[in-house]
Amino acid sequence: MDQPTLIDTQMHGRAGITGCFVVRGSELTALVETGPKSSLDHVLKGLADAGVEPDWLVVTHIHLDHAGAAGTLAHHFPEARVAVHEVGAPHLADPSKLWSSAARIYGDEMDELWGGIDPIDPGRITTLADGDEIDLGGRKLTAIDTPGHARHHHTYLDDVTGIAFTGDAMGVRLEDVGVVRPATPPPEFDLEDGIASIERIRSLRPTEMWLTHFGSQKPQPVDEVCDEAIAALRSWEGWVKEARTRSDDLDVIAAEVQKRAEEDLGGRLTPEAIDRMEQTTSYRMNTWGYVRYLDRKAKAS
Ligand SMILES: [Zn+2]
Repeated sequence: MDQPTLIDTQMHGRAGITGCFVVRGSELTALVETGPKSSLDHVLKGLADAGVEPDWLVVTHIHLDHAGAAGTLAHHFPEARVAVHEVGAPHLADPSKLWSSAARIYGDEMDELWGGIDPIDPGRITTLADGDEIDLGGRKLTAIDTPGHARHHHTYLDDVTGIAFTGDAMGVRLEDVGVVRPATPPPEFDLEDGIASIERIRSLRPTEMWLTHFGSQKPQPVDEVCDEAIAALRSWEGWVKEARTRSDDLDVIAAEVQKRAEEDLGGRLTPEAIDRMEQTTSYRMNTWGYVRYLDRKAKAS
């Protein structure tokens, strides 16, 4: 059976930042991730070029850059079923809360960035819990609960190739950039869960990790990427904590975190590479996620 195929969704008009993946079994085909509705045409073209009509639309989590096109694709492929974490499922059936929650982050830019979101008939949704499998015929995708980036987040392991589709669990690592940036959005980001999920993925000993943002971790070894992802999560925590001793203003804190992050990279990235990373998870959004997480933790203790 063949390697999965990567389709570049060209999200926000940029190449190499958000992918989705075609996984073919002997009987059924899955599309893992859908991208947002705003980049649907690229996904449909990618599917046509690959000569497939998906039987399964499988998403790691319900954020708009991963699942925003699921409802629209479900209209295009009326036989397809949608597979999603049990906690995320109600929000694909009725995306109104998902949309208004994202609007708190993206404000007036919602329509331009995401292009809307179509609801999915609940009868077509299969909810998955940890360890559940999608059988494609001689090939299975196993759902691995990997919270942290969000509470509802699955990694999917392909038993034929040993590839793990890690969604946002590893953060963002663009193929041509090769640096891991954490993906820590509000309101659900949790540092301890995120680190535990990276360790869990490592313990599965995947042959490769395919990140939604973006593509295979190769040629960097899986272990090294896991180490880098954990180290980055810890560094950002330190930067946010330190900046907060001087200011309560999110924009001020985010600007300081950006400065520290770019110093840490030692000018290794071009402004163009940083711009593309900003499109997937910005300094401001990541900082906001940490602030929410740290406040929640302080309240709980
Ligand atoms: Zn996400």
